[in-house]
Amino acid sequence: MTSVAVVGGGPAGLMAAEVLASAGCAVTVYERMPAVGRKLLMAGRGGLNLTHSEPPAPFLARYGPAAARLAPAIEAFPPDALVAWAEGLGQLTFVGSSGRVFPQALKASPLLRAWLRRLQGLGVELRPRHDWRGWDEAGRLLFATPDGEATASPDATVLALGGASWPKLGANGDWVGVLKPAGVAVAPLKPANVGFEVGWSGLFRDRFAGEPLKAVALTFGRRRVRGEAMVTRHGLEGGAVYALSAALRDAIEVDGSARLWIDLRPDMRAPDLAARIAQQPAHQSLANRLRKAIRLTPLESSLLREAHGKALPAEPAALAAAIKGAPLTFTGIRPIARAISTAGGVAFAGVDDALMLIARPGVFVAGEMLDWEAPTGGYLLQASFATGVAAARGALRRLKIS
Ligand SMILES: Cc1cc2nc3c(=O)[nH]c(=O)nc-3n(C[C@H](O)[C@H](O)[C@H](O)COP(=O)(O)OP(=O)(O)OC[C@H]3O[C@@H](n4cnc5c(N)ncnc54)[C@H](O)[C@@H]3O)c2cc1C
Repeated sequence: MTSVAVVGGGPAGLMAAEVLASAGCAVTVYERMPAVGRKLLMAGRGGLNLTHSEPPAPFLARYGPAAARLAPAIEAFPPDALVAWAEGLGQLTFVGSSGRVFPQALKASPLLRAWLRRLQGLGVELRPRHDWRGWDEAGRLLFATPDGEATASPDATVLALGGASWPKLGANGDWVGVLKPAGVAVAPLKPANVGFEVGWSGLFRDRFAGEPLKAVALTFGRRRVRGEAMVTRHGLEGGAVYALSAALRDAIEVDGSARLWIDLRPDMRAPDLAARIAQQPAHQSLANRLRKAIRLTPLESSLLREAHGKALPAEPAALAAAIKGAPLTFTGIRPIARAISTAGGVAFAGVDDALMLIARPGVFVAGEMLDWEAPTGGYLLQASFATGVAAARGALRRLKIS
């Protein structure tokens, strides 16, 4: 029987294992943690946004420069196929108001449990606590285990080792130190969907860290994004920030800082805001006028002062302009360990169309360890699952099984 090793038991690796085992291969999944799917379970805490319901063209565009190389995998295993797969595991799904797709259970544990049962039924063997260290001189896969070293000589290998965010969940990017010396082109790992540092005043930080800015619009360069942002002790994070984070990260890398603009009332035009503010008696404190006129919260009032300096204009039109465009300077990028996902990874130039490493024939690569990034919205899991399928099918073709 043909044997295939899958290294890394996240969504990409387990999906590769399912495809390979369904085609009749003897599959062993090696995982360094005591259990597989830790990051998938963590994603479940946010409701498990599996994929997105938007049409194929805008969907693919979310992957930016990697879209063309990811397209074959995503077209072969598109969002509909992912939904059907999840439903096949008993997890009915729904499309949220933003177009994002979630399991009705809004968590990952029932899906993972059903999936592991299916994999067991297919004869997939899970070997936890197997930390892959590379290859020995004989070309065998080398693992560190609690019982010492272990080796394996499969007919093909799928590496699905993840990125470097949330390293305590297992993936920490240390595979770069194995693959680069083996001649594999790897783009530097960088934080994606990440928060940024802001030099908040001590008072603001102590009072508002942990509070959300709801229904704001953020503008950086020519992109404007509506959504929520969370004030942290370090700066700002959350959905709207993540949506801009690739461009912000790249700008900070070049310039050392990046300035974005917050619109605290994106649904109101500046003249309407000014008219409402003008109706409030001028003798009141500014915070009171703004609270009564447009329900500006204490967080929003204080943010205006952080952004514009203490001396806010009293004149209604100028105040309205300040509310529609509060400048905030991001002075740094939060560490990759705190990011939702990872940009960079195994370069597409280093793999063939079957996602096989050119420098290491017979070894395929899948998931977040490939060099792509995407915003939150289900695009991360979709590409991880789809490249898991693609790498497994590539291995099957090489093994002449399909
Ligand atoms: C808090 C959070 C929430 C998220 N929510 C969502 C969401 O709602 N929707 C979405 O689309 N995406 C979400 N993501 C991202 C998504 O979880 C990842 O993109 C996805 O898990 C990547 O899958 P993967 O299989 O490539 O890597 P991983 O899931 O990271 O799996 C890689 C596996 O390889 C193992 N491994 C690594 N190195 C070795 C080694 N040397 N030897 C053996 N095993 C090794 C790791 O332990 C790990 O189990 C979220 C991420 C985080 C952190």
